Amino acid sequence: MRGLMQSSSINLVSLLEHASRWHGNQEVVSNTVEGGMHRQTYRETWQRTAQLGNALAELGVKKGDRIGTMAWNTYRHLESWFAIMGRGAVAHTLNPRLFPEQLIYIVNHAEDQIILVDLTFVPLIQALADKLPTLKHVIVMTGPEHMPDDLPDNWHCYESLLEGRAQSCEWEQVDGDDASSLCYTSGTTGNPKGVLYSHISNVLHAYGATSKDAMNVGSADRVMMVVPMFHANSWGLAFGLPMVGARMVMPGPHMDGASMAAMLNDERCNFAAAVPTVWSMLLDHLRSTGGSLPDLKEVVIGGSAAPRSMIEAFDKEFDVAVLHAWGMTEMSPLGTVNRVSGSMPLPAGPDEAYDLSCKQGRVPFGVDMEIVDDDHNTLPHDGQTFGRLLVRGPWIVERYYGETESALDENGWFDTGDIATIDEYGFMNITDRAKDVIKSGGEWISSADLENAAIAHPDVALAACIGATHPKWDERPVLLVQMAEGKNLDAGSILTLLAEQFARWQLPDAILPVDSIPLTATGKIDKKPLRAEYQNYLLDNPS
Ligand code: AMP
Repeated sequence: MRGLMQSSSINLVSLLEHASRWHGNQEVVSNTVEGGMHRQTYRETWQRTAQLGNALAELGVKKGDRIGTMAWNTYRHLESWFAIMGRGAVAHTLNPRLFPEQLIYIVNHAEDQIILVDLTFVPLIQALADKLPTLKHVIVMTGPEHMPDDLPDNWHCYESLLEGRAQSCEWEQVDGDDASSLCYTSGTTGNPKGVLYSHISNVLHAYGATSKDAMNVGSADRVMMVVPMFHANSWGLAFGLPMVGARMVMPGPHMDGASMAAMLNDERCNFAAAVPTVWSMLLDHLRSTGGSLPDLKEVVIGGSAAPRSMIEAFDKEFDVAVLHAWGMTEMSPLGTVNRVSGSMPLPAGPDEAYDLSCKQGRVPFGVDMEIVDDDHNTLPHDGQTFGRLLVRGPWIVERYYGETESALDENGWFDTGDIATIDEYGFMNITDRAKDVIKSGGEWISSADLENAAIAHPDVALAACIGATHPKWDERPVLLVQMAEGKNLDAGSILTLLAEQFARWQLPDAILPVDSIPLTATGKIDKKPLRAEYQNYLLDNPS
């Protein structure tokens, strides 16, 4: 027997319609690409989205077409997402930090018909355009006064396209399972893989991500959405914030410490979301200028592990709580969030509380997880035993775009590639990426734990640990460090710090300085070039 309730086939554009109807005066604030702050309401955002939807129809956009965006977080990028999805087309976010060859591969694999591009990236798309055979139009997200000269006829000005169009649009009917958006994982090996989200998966994810035990945001909140829309869907905030009617504050390209501090304080943001590297810049800026964060109450940190030193610094120096979260592109991306549960003993003091905050947290309804050994045996949830972390749920990938084979195992689990423990209260703790774990004499050493401990050293800016080949132990840790400006490496003092937390056999065999630690397009440490250079270091330099 089927239920007799109204259809659940929600087009994602209705999230913005809701924001316009019921939070119409709430502000969407952007630090623009052209320079200067821009403000509009959800009502205006909705009207302009309809104008863009009408323009896209005129450019021939049909249901299911893939439309790329290469843009910072601003009101125009937000409008673009909703207009594309409202038309039943697929919003494909392009990460501008990828190598050109990867971008060419991704655009051609997705067969993007149109790309909406910020002024910043016009030269990049110009340089690639003749290698993108499916590309019919490019829309430059700016006004006519900023349009570059001498662009081909199929390059359009965003504001000119909107000009004079109807502020309402006949949106496409969609089935909840229809595709809404596409994001490729940066993939450290092989070609990038596309994750194709649906309208319903994003709606469910937005409910989950904003819920109390997750980000806990509502209409009274002023949220700075730093995490880019081109990186794992801005962690669902581009959907979740209109859903709850929160004030949206977006940094555009201005993510340096000074700009961030100014925006957080001028807009009186009480909540913000970003990866650790961005928060480091903010903390450095505040320390060097003696700045403060009077309104900010909580920050979400995810994308890579939130270092304990950062969690402590936010709390002790700026009275800001850190909410540690974990997820991945394949999970829309939210997997776990670190909020204390009422059924567990409260931390005895600040030290225990910081230890707890370092864990990646608990699953909301919508995500199930398990840890298993290499033979797929389920492992105990004792907070000690670690194994491969598997997940499943309605906002988790089933198969990659264009693939015929499922990405799941025979029991419907997706292998995250992360190694983790789960404790008796359901708190998951990432030990390492499976491919980064250092296998030394049959024992495992967490490269992530060593890195996190090393960056607590005041002279260390960034650290990356790899398993270098060893004639006796297979692999031994080699720690590569990027020193803070003006500091020289004192390996002994780093080793002394590490020795407080690690057994002797877990300590690195070598600590070496590097000019800069390479980062991936999503701001994570890229160990591939480091492995290429240092894999044989211990063979070439036996102790
Ligand atoms: P991406 O799909 O680019 O967001 O990358 C997802 C991967 O980032 C995960 O599988 C983890 O390895 C890593 N990651 C994300 N959040 C965290 C976190 N809070 N702590 C540790 N690793 C994380």
